[in-house]
Amino acid sequence: MRSATPAETDALIAFASQHFGARILRRRDAPEFILLKEGMEALGIPSSLLDTVLAGRSMTIGSLVYLDDLLTPDDVFEVVPHEMTHVLQEAENGFLKNAWLYAGYTELRAKLEAEAYAVGAAMNYARWKTLPTLDDFRQRIGSGYFLGGAELDLARELFEQAVTGAVRTYDATGETGLKSADVHIEFIRINYPDLLA
Ligand SMILES: [Zn+2]
Repeated sequence: MRSATPAETDALIAFASQHFGARILRRRDAPEFILLKEGMEALGIPSSLLDTVLAGRSMTIGSLVYLDDLLTPDDVFEVVPHEMTHVLQEAENGFLKNAWLYAGYTELRAKLEAEAYAVGAAMNYARWKTLPTLDDFRQRIGSGYFLGGAELDLARELFEQAVTGAVRTYDATGETGLKSADVHIEFIRINYPDLLA
């Protein structure tokens, strides 16, 4: 195991874009964000405000994925599989229905994020054999997702179940049983096997 390089990160992004039919951009390269920032400047609003508000956030809207500009190559190997989980969720649930539910129903949001974070944790397990603590997880989804205490507890429980199952399955079979994680792990195993633990 070793850290990923920027070139390997680009290859992972190209693979995921093609496999999941997604458009994955770093926020600073996305024409829509560049336009938005120009618009803000034209209105006399410092466009750096947008960077401040969005710092540390990657997001998926339908099959459009905006990656946070501050991600390291190793972060990208966790975050892209996380965001591809949302692409699969939206394809399954239907974009409009899902977007509407996502905005309105915190319990569903907790479930969707628990699944996506479990995929990210499974990636890190395959790469480093490390697992986050449940407190780390609760802290990560405790800010920015507008979840209340009950939903955070639900998310934590679902996350723990999913990660425990994924790790057990991975140790036994080399697959996690989590779709997005397995697709990316297979890509790494074929192309950069020394990125796996
Ligand atoms: Zn997410």
